[in-house]
Amino acid sequence: MQTVKLYNQISKSVEDFQPIDPEDVKIYTCGPTVYSYPHIGNFTSYIYWDLLIRTLTLNGYRVNRVLNMTDVGHLASDADDGEDKLEKGAKREGKTVWEIADKYIKAFMDDFHALKLTEPTKIARATDYIEQDERLVDLLTEKGYTYETSDGIYFDTSKFADYAKFANLDLDQMRAGARVKFNEEKKNVSDFAVWKFVKPGEDHAMQWDYLGRPGYPGWHLECSTIIESELGTPIDIHTGGIDHIPVHHTNEIAQSEAAYEKKLANYWLHCDFITIDGEKISKSLGNTYTLEDLKERGFDALDFKMWVLQGHYRGRRNFSFEDLAAAQTRRLNWRNRIAKTLYQDIADNSSKAAFDKDKALGFVSDNLNSSELLALIDNSAMEVSDWEFVDQLLGLELIASTPDISEEQKKILAEHHDARAAKDFETSDKLRDALAIDNIAVLDTPEKAYWEYSK
Ligand code: AMP
Ligand code: ZN
Repeated sequence: MQTVKLYNQISKSVEDFQPIDPEDVKIYTCGPTVYSYPHIGNFTSYIYWDLLIRTLTLNGYRVNRVLNMTDVGHLASDADDGEDKLEKGAKREGKTVWEIADKYIKAFMDDFHALKLTEPTKIARATDYIEQDERLVDLLTEKGYTYETSDGIYFDTSKFADYAKFANLDLDQMRAGARVKFNEEKKNVSDFAVWKFVKPGEDHAMQWDYLGRPGYPGWHLECSTIIESELGTPIDIHTGGIDHIPVHHTNEIAQSEAAYEKKLANYWLHCDFITIDGEKISKSLGNTYTLEDLKERGFDALDFKMWVLQGHYRGRRNFSFEDLAAAQTRRLNWRNRIAKTLYQDIADNSSKAAFDKDKALGFVSDNLNSSELLALIDNSAMEVSDWEFVDQLLGLELIASTPDISEEQKKILAEHHDARAAKDFETSDKLRDALAIDNIAVLDTPEKAYWEYSK
């Protein structure tokens, strides 16, 4: 076991991780809004958190992790108005909001599995927690944190003393910056809805009766109630994207800590965004690539995972197909090293130093520094047990994605070698081409023909 170091948004510094209970390390990850196909930007974050889970597990901790699915009316912007994303998806596809949620939860999980991400202990759907949401609003109201307006119940952020602290918010500037009076009834610019009323005549498919009228939860609520119901506060680690810091996580902290009078989470980790060819990911630029799009261009989901692991979660990264191709080559190279060591009895890079598992775990334990670990793998002599360890740590399924060739292919390889030795090049070329169709490349030596994967 090594000391795990993590950057914590609370202290804005790297800290030694100290769990509340090493046998039950509680982690919560803000999940996707399930209204369209997730793109590779969304999955970047889940790949980083997979590395976090694996790092903690290999350090001997037992992880208990919840991931939510935002399947409830959730507004298209951080403000409390705007279009509901699920309603928008339903209109677009002529389906109900429930069908939209089911369809895109399945799409998300299919990609999640293709990326070999560690299965969470629990996947929680927001719509299963509406009663708990209502109880949270009750509690906040009892404790004097809310006020009612014509369109909902709002959290009064001026009553939560540390509201600005987590994100270093400049509330004065926010006040001055609020040029458009978006909601005259709000007491403070940072106040947010914990419950919204369905307006008379409004077409809102998801609605629940609460306080004698139809309504639906404010969009930050689900994370607070799911955490309290499934894990109990305080939890150890809460993760999300940097876009969550100023609004979503700030509001989660305010409502949870005000209601339950306990700290919400001890460590908060946020990952930065990826750009594509230097541009933001957006529909209008046509660069909202999905894993399926990458597959159509000849890339495996695990090539993308390799690309993500080459960088750091706190860095702004730029994605390009050139760089993805380089990651694919690296993965192929590793697989071929496995093919030699595991099936052909060829020692790996015997001139290099032996792979050091402690050093490897030390890199990722140091605030998830996977790029150093990847360089260590490039530059060490690896044995099969080392690759097994790397598979546990990175979840790239390197061994599983490198099967041995079949008996039939072995026979062709031997025949190719014999034909070559007999200088029957026509036959030996034909046999080599037959293997090439199966993406197997032949490496001739005077004694024996070896093989490796060509893709
Ligand atoms: P959404 O389902 O649209 O709420 O997105 C879920 C999360 O995906 C966002 O809150 C971000 O944390 C993350 N995300 C979206 N775009 C990117 C990106 N380009 N790079 C990294 N993460 C992203
Ligand atoms: Zn959340």
